[in-house]
Parts: sequence; structure tokens; C-alpha cells
Amino acid sequence: MISVSTKLEDLSWIPRPRLLALRRLDIETTEDLLTHFPRRHEDRTEFPQFPREETNVPICLCGEVIKTSLRRFGGWKKIFEATLEESQPNALSEPLVCRWFNLHYVQKMIATGQRIVVFGRPRLRGKRICIDHPEFEVIENDEEISIHFRRITPIYPATEGLSQRVLRGIIYRVLHEFPDAGWQSIAPNSLVHGERSDAIRAIHFPGSWEARDAAREHLVLSEFFAMQMLIASRRFESSARAGQAHCGSGALLDEFLKGLPFELTAAQRKVISEIRRDVAANYPMNRLLQGDVGSGKTVVAIAAMLLVVEAGYEAAFMAPTQILAEQHYEVLRRWLEPLGVQIALRTAARQEESGPLPLFDLGSARVSRAGDGAASSRTFPEVDVALAARYSRRRVPHFKKAWAIYAVTIATKKDRCLSPKARMTVLNSLRHFHNKRYEMFAACVMPDHVHLLIQPWPKGGDDKANTSFWRLSELVHSIKSFSAHEINEIENKSGSIWEKERFDRYVRSDRDLQEKFYYILRNPWDSGVAKQNEDYPWVWTQDDESHKERLFRRDAETSMRDACATQTNEPQIIVGTHALLYESVSFSNLGLTVIDEQHKFGVAQRARLTAREPAPDVLVMTATPIPRTLTMTIYGDLDVSKIDEMPRNRGKIITAVRDTSKLGEVLSFLRTQFEKGRQLYVIYPLIDESEKLDVKAAAAEYELWRERLHPFRCELLHGRIPASEKQQVMGRFRRGDTNALISTTVLEVGVDVPNATMMLIENAERFGLAQLHQLRGRIGRGEHKSTCILLSSSQAKETSAKLTVLERTTNGFEVAEADWELRGPGDVLGTAQSGLPALKIGDLKRDADLMRRARAAAMSIFEMDPRLDLAENQRFRRLIVEQQKQSFSHVS
Ligand code: ADP
Ligand code: MG
Repeated sequence: MISVSTKLEDLSWIPRPRLLALRRLDIETTEDLLTHFPRRHEDRTEFPQFPREETNVPICLCGEVIKTSLRRFGGWKKIFEATLEESQPNALSEPLVCRWFNLHYVQKMIATGQRIVVFGRPRLRGKRICIDHPEFEVIENDEEISIHFRRITPIYPATEGLSQRVLRGIIYRVLHEFPDAGWQSIAPNSLVHGERSDAIRAIHFPGSWEARDAAREHLVLSEFFAMQMLIASRRFESSARAGQAHCGSGALLDEFLKGLPFELTAAQRKVISEIRRDVAANYPMNRLLQGDVGSGKTVVAIAAMLLVVEAGYEAAFMAPTQILAEQHYEVLRRWLEPLGVQIALRTAARQEESGPLPLFDLGSARVSRAGDGAASSRTFPEVDVALAARYSRRRVPHFKKAWAIYAVTIATKKDRCLSPKARMTVLNSLRHFHNKRYEMFAACVMPDHVHLLIQPWPKGGDDKANTSFWRLSELVHSIKSFSAHEINEIENKSGSIWEKERFDRYVRSDRDLQEKFYYILRNPWDSGVAKQNEDYPWVWTQDDESHKERLFRRDAETSMRDACATQTNEPQIIVGTHALLYESVSFSNLGLTVIDEQHKFGVAQRARLTAREPAPDVLVMTATPIPRTLTMTIYGDLDVSKIDEMPRNRGKIITAVRDTSKLGEVLSFLRTQFEKGRQLYVIYPLIDESEKLDVKAAAAEYELWRERLHPFRCELLHGRIPASEKQQVMGRFRRGDTNALISTTVLEVGVDVPNATMMLIENAERFGLAQLHQLRGRIGRGEHKSTCILLSSSQAKETSAKLTVLERTTNGFEVAEADWELRGPGDVLGTAQSGLPALKIGDLKRDADLMRRARAAAMSIFEMDPRLDLAENQRFRRLIVEQQKQSFSHVS
């Protein structure tokens, strides 16, 4: 019996070349095949008469080939023409000419006398009605004719080596042999009508157009529902994850707000209160903040960070580029240092200067032991609660395998017992690799075995996307070989000391970690090797280490610093680029991460950030408003806040589209503005910044503009200029030393110079609407009226439709919806980035409404049964697992 998972090769009637061609379409099982949905249908029940006029919609026609010809033009180019006559011609009938340019294979497939079906747009060419490059299918008089004709016929996305006919024939036969019961329904009956089996049949070979539409709706709803179940599960999973309340009293925030030179807008206030609610709750926040460029998201982010900092946690603020990180850093310092908040900047370039942060900071999240500093007896019980509380503050990123923590036991050979001196040697070798190849949390060297709790570190290497970690076996090997020689020397023996490691364990949760931790620390006493009240010096924790370091390093300077530092100098807010994620820089007790400009930051990266426990609160900010349909999918697992109102003091931005021929007028306008002291950005597009050629282009561009704007001063900014220089260029512009900045889109986000009121964008047609809108947001930041000029030399209708949107509105949400409308069909702008399975039938744009229904259905299931415990919800678990498998597979 065939089932969904039956391999096509096991059907035994599909020839091998066809199987290979199918595989190229990723079709291996019957389910793959039957969910290879038609991209359209042709009505072949009855063909219309041949047209005598042009039509704008493509139509499907059938006729006999009465003549073919091959003509050459322009040297080597060829046109193949086939003239068709309709089946029942009448006196008024005109023949139809089908033409293919330079498609050699077509002439091999079409011959006089054949009947063919063509699909395309008839056009009047001279006196003839022609269809150029129609899709076509030759009718062969085989017994399968009923599959291909006299019905509404499916047309599939096809591939080389597999014609429509063959593919249709295979699908027809498999469908025929497939049992109805073989299909599991996906969506609940409250969402879809009818059975999945019927829908699958009808999508391929519908009895009527209505049946086709109903089937499509069923299948799209099912597909969307599956996607939304995955999204909903992520959403509920993350809110069920261990989080913490990270919210201070708000006094610090009030102080900050009081010091601001402006009033918050109502939208800002609303969003801050939404965030405050999340931050105070003990589930992790996952919030998306959408707000136009200049709507004041940074202030909101600062508010959120202050709440967290006040509660004693750290906050991280990540920007997509270094320029931005540095700019944010300056802004934050200006506003927050007066409040006594410590801020640090961490970008790739600044790394050496300020030194890397330790992966775990010992100062603020220490794991202390009872008896620290006092007697060395180790009695835990009465402080357990406090310990646990302190302990649980630690970040334990055990979700990602690579970052797993392991409990390892290494045993000595039977005949080897470690002397006290040898134990010290082992301990020292463990310490030797600490913070180099792993982080060690605890260790204890017993006479005949060693326990340790470690988290392997990434190996060096600069391929940040592909960090590889030290493997456990490598680490254990290092430790063993590092200590073996010396031990033999001490004990005056030879031969091997260590057994193969007896077991290692992957620590799965905080609680697990905690248990393991105390197990190791207590081991000498629990096992009777040490008596209560007796010291056992071969136990190690990070606190011992810092204690030791303090003993060694205490000199006059450090003592003084200690004395002054009643409050720590640890940064409370760390500003950086997304490199923060990949570098060994990390946080001792991260409470909140703010990610600025989300569209450069994929789901996979976000996952990496939040896969720690307890999970930090995450606030993602984007200045690219996303159409609602996309928000439901790509960011469907996030709560959404919007700032839909601009601060009142903003100058207006006028946007004008100008043809390149009007450059002269434009220049004289710019001059009048320069004379008033205003500044200008000139943006030109670079296709690929990585190419050397573009540096030349940039330089040429710059020369040109220097001449045009003479005697006003301009400077150049692009991605290949070293960071420090960029910094200087920006500095001079900000101070007003330069009048114009000639720049690539490195300027895109976050740059804030209120006096820059003019922007001129060259070749504006090359940019997307969203990007243009982004760019435009660099101006209109002060109280002066601003002007954005879009220069374009393109006459195309699409271009002007696109650019006039910007003339019409400055509201980012409107721009986003218009952009969405103007784009082609809607798969997308990144389901690939989103970590969601690719869509097979649904279209995010056309089917937005169905998405809304599917989402509501999925959400309501999770709301009633968040862990899918109910019997009737079991099948959804499987569905989610399947979706999980299909997603991320196409994310790089
Ligand atoms: P974006 O949303 O693009 O990140 P910013 O947070 O950078 O916007 O804000 C842009 C500018 O507007 C900053 O100079 C900021 O100080 C100012 N600003 C923010 N909120 C207000 C407000 N409510 N009233 C006036 N100015 C504001
Ligand atoms: Mg910003």
C-alpha cells in the first residue's frame, strides 16, 4: 500500500531518468510528488476561438500546426515560427503565429500536422496575431489523452528532462493509486472545510474552477496553519522558558526622563510601559519595536536598559555597524554617565584597546561557598537557598550543544594513586587550560579520580559564523598529557597514569548543573576521603581562583582601586556590534539585550542570543516597518510594539523625484541651502561593496561632486574606509566643518546630524523603497525643513510608481504597505531568513487573509493547551516537529 512516505523509486514503474529529474525538483516520496502543486491551470474543456485582437491576459488556445519556419536575423540569432489554424475554422478565422527567439529545442519539438496547445498573450504584429514565447504542449494521440485534455489541466513547475506531460502523467497515476486514508488532516475542522485527501485530488485535477479554488484554500490554510503552529510553539516555548524579573523601581528611569530636553511622545510612553510590564514579569521578553527612523526608539531602549540596570543586571545594546555602535555609545555616555551608569563599548576594532571581557565575570555573579574566608569546613545546608539564588543568576547556555557544559570524570589506572603533590599538579593543569580552552566551574582532584565541570570554549579562528569548539576528548587529552609527565616525575614512576575517561555527562539544565556543582565540591567529604572540619585543598572553584589572584596581584595600585571602588567599575551597559555574539565577550548577568535594526539580524542569530538560561529579555528594534502579513510570519514569535508618531519638534521632509537632466537646477538649490548653513548628504548606490572596483567608483564620484559643489567642502564615506578615519570624517561633518558628505549606504541607519537637511540620492531607482525611506530618515532631524531629492534617469513605469510613493508619504508604515503591494508575488523578503519552512502553495501577499485565520486558529490552540497535553492535540506535536525539520534547513 502506498503511503505518504513511500519512495518513488519503490513504485517500480517510474523510469530512472525520470526519478533523477524528479529528484532535481526535490521530489523523492509520494508526498513530495503530490504536494508539488500546479502553478496554474488551463481550461482545456473547451478552447476559445482564435483571437482577432490583442489581449492583455494570457489565454489558452489549441490548433493544428500548418506551417513552420526558421528565420535568421542579426547574424546568428534565429526566430522559429509555427503557424496554427484552429480546429473548426470559419470564414473569419485568422491563423495564429507563435514565435520563439533563439530557443533551439523548440524547433525540434514542433512539426507540421501536430496539434498543440499554447498559452500566452496574443499581440498584433503588423497584420498578424502573434504570441511570442508561448508555453506549449504537443497533443499526442495516446491513451492518456484524457489526463491532459478535456479538463481543467494542471501546469506544474517543471524541470529539464521532465515535460509537463510526463510529470502530469506520473502525478495522475500516483494520485489514482493513493488511498484516501493515506492523508492525515493538518488543520482542525474549525479552520478548513472537507478532507485533505479531497483537496489534494482537486488541486491537481479539479472538476471545476470552484473546486480548484476550494481545494487551494484548504491547502493554503493547512500550510499556513502548520507554519503558525511552529511560530506559536516557539512563542510559547520562549515564554515558558526560565526567565527572571529584571525590573528596578523606576527611580533611575524617572531621573533620566527628568533630565531629557524634551517630552516623550505618547507613543514612546505607551511602548515604555509595555516593555516595563515584560521586564518586570518572570518570563523572558521577546518584543519587536517598530518605529520609523527618528521616531525616538533609542530613548525607549535606554528606558528599558535603565530599568534592568537598576535591578542589578547588565544590558547589551547591539548595533549592526561599528559607526552606529560608536554613535550609540556616545549618546548613551552623554545621557547616562551623569546618572552614574557605567557604559562600555565593545566592537571588533576597540577590542584590543579595552581588552576582552572575561566570559563570566567573577565579581558580580560569583558562586560563593560557605566558609569562604572563615574556617575551611564546608557545611552547605543553611546557606543553600542563598546559594541557589545566587547561582541561578549565572548564565548557563546549555541549549546549544556547542556551548554545552559537561561533567567529566577522569580516573587513574588501578595501581596509581595520586600523592598530595601529584594532586596539586593535576589541579594546576586543570587551571592551566581554564579560560583558554574551557571555562571551569568546579573541580576536585581525588586520590584516584578527578571530577570537573567545564564548558568548552571556541577554538581561535576568525570565521565568526563558523565557530568550532574544543571537543571534550581533545580537552581531556590535553589535561592528561599536560599532567602525566610531571606526576611520573614526582612519584618517581613511569607508565600511564590515566584510564580512559569513565564518563562524561552533558549537563542539561540549571538544576542539573547545580547538583553537579555541589556534588563535586562535597565529594571529598561525602566520600569520607576528608573528615568533616578537615581541609581538602584540591577542590577548586572560580572563587578560589579569584581569591588566589587577589593574593598574588595585590599591589599598591590595585589596593587603591579596590578602596575607591565602593561601586564596581563593571560596565552596566555594553554597547557593541553584533560581533558581541561571537566573540568571547560575554556577560555575567545579562538581563536585557537590545538589538537595533533587526532586518540585518536573522532569526538564527536571535536564537543564539536567547538560548541561555535564564533567558535575557530581548528587545528588537527596527526602523523598517514591516507589512502586517510579514509581521505575522517572520516576526510571528515576537510581541510587537509600535511607535507610530514622530516627535513634534521635527521639521518636515519634502521629497521630490527629479530626472537626472535637472541636475543643474538641483545644484543651484543646494547652494542656496549651503549658504544658509545647511548640510547635505549625497548617496550613491554601490552594487557590491566588497569589490575593489567600487572603491574606484567611489573615488571618481567624489571627485565629481567636489567640482560640482565647489567651493563648498565635501568628504567621502564608504565601507572600505578604516573605522578610525570614518569616525573622523563623521566628526568633521557633525561639527559642520564639511558641508557635504558623499556616501554609500553605510550611512543608512542611525546617523544623526540635525543640521543636515538635504539629501540627494543618485540612481534612486536602484534602491528599494524601504531602503530609500531609511536613507531619507537621516534628514529632518532638526527643526528646519528638509529636502530629499531622488535623482533618477529611468523612465520605467515601475520606477515612477515606486518613487512617487515617497513623494506622497513620509509615514514608514504606509511606505512598507505600498512597497509590499508593488513587489511581485509574496514569497518573500525572507521566509529564508526567518527560519520557517518554505511555502509550497500559499502566497503571503495574496493570501494574507488566510494567514490571519490560520494564525488565530494556531494561537487559540496554544492558549487553551500551551503544552499540547490534550489527546486531541497530540497530532499537532508531530506537525510541529516536522515543520521544525523543514525550517532552518534553508537558512545559512
Ligand atoms: P530612531 O527611532 O531613529 O532610533 P532616535 O532615537 O535616534 O530615533 O531619535 C532621533 C532624535 O530624536 C534623537 O536626537 C533624539 O534625542 C530625539 N528624540 C527622541 N524622542 C524625542 C521626543 N519625544 N521629542 C523630541 N525629540 C526626541
Ligand atoms: Mg536608531
